[in-house]
Amino acid sequence: LLIGCPAETEWHESRVAVTPEVVGRLRRIGLDVVVEAGAGRRAGFPDEAYVAAGARVGDRLEVFTQPDILAVIHRPDCQRLRAGQIVIGLLGPYEAPEELSEVTALSFEGLPRTLSRAQSMDVLTSQANVAGYKAAVLAADTFGGFFPMMMTAAGTVRPAKVLVLGGGVAGLQAIGTARRLGALVTGYDVRAAARADIASTGAAVLDLKVTAEGEGGYARTLTADEQAEQQKALVDAIRDFDVVITTAQVPGHRPPALVPAEALAALAPGSVVVDLASGPLGGNVAGSVPGSRTETENGVVVLGAGNLPAQVPRAASSAWARNVAALLEHLIHDGSVVLDPEDEVTAGLLVRTKEAVS
Ligand code: NAD
Repeated sequence: LLIGCPAETEWHESRVAVTPEVVGRLRRIGLDVVVEAGAGRRAGFPDEAYVAAGARVGDRLEVFTQPDILAVIHRPDCQRLRAGQIVIGLLGPYEAPEELSEVTALSFEGLPRTLSRAQSMDVLTSQANVAGYKAAVLAADTFGGFFPMMMTAAGTVRPAKVLVLGGGVAGLQAIGTARRLGALVTGYDVRAAARADIASTGAAVLDLKVTAEGEGGYARTLTADEQAEQQKALVDAIRDFDVVITTAQVPGHRPPALVPAEALAALAPGSVVVDLASGPLGGNVAGSVPGSRTETENGVVVLGAGNLPAQVPRAASSAWARNVAALLEHLIHDGSVVLDPEDEVTAGLLVRTKEAVS
């Protein structure tokens, strides 16, 4: 069996789905590996490192046409795919599913995340972790003050006060990173379990009075009244903070509107807000633009996140490639790919294009 890894072509994407580190793991389960020339370069993995690990480097045409399995980050140009190939990645299965109808598409969006044996394969978690880290580092880099308390001959500087809204995977990593940089951190989430996770990091927990447990360990969308109550409580609480990082998401819905313009107006000039949820469907923060820095009239800098994992491409690719290797170790038995529809992992990942198209 041959697995191929093409270079990603999405705008600002610098990650790669297979790294030299996992080539040995893939070979041990009977896979030969071919990587497109230059595919890992922007993530810090030169072609020579793949060759040294036992992979072959090929051109784009052979990397698309020869392999039985393709490992990608985003959905590739589907016209290049060969009928019958297995394609593994974040394939966005609900958009134009007919493009995937000739291949066996395994899309990480469908992984059953609460299943403990699926955790080592979970790219949503591994990449949210990278995004949370980067959000805190970006905030520290943009903020005009220090994160830690500084005691110097010229006097003492108080630590920055950081508020993290949303205590899922990304939020908890943003909290941990801001704390390691020395900030005084407070967190908030609508789920009680997430508030307990925030408290366990040693951060303070903000009480915005609104609780909204959904299904499968996720939050539910707030009612209009709850959202208004949450926003009002936030306008009162937010003025104490120098930095706000928002990470709130409800799967399958627009990101919740958490920080209205009145809350931004309550922040001091020079405060920094990072909206990790900012994307094509909107974000958590009024007026945030994905991938852009904007400034409010009162001098608050708002950073819309865009693709943060791609800004930490080495760590993000390493984690992704390990997730892919763990999945293939689960699927490959005696040199063959076994797609058992009774297996929860396989059933979750398999994109049922025929049903989706009809
Ligand atoms: P996510 O990216 O969907 O959401 C991020 C956070 O935003 C969640 O904690 C959610 O409660 C919060 N949120 C949503 N609406 C909000 C609002 N209006 N105000 C404030 N916060 C709001 O979630 P995620 O980080 O991918 O995962 C969510 C949880 O699922 C995690 O805490 C994690 O523990 C759990 N999870 C479990 C497993 C597992 O058991 N293996 C794997 C992945 C995730």
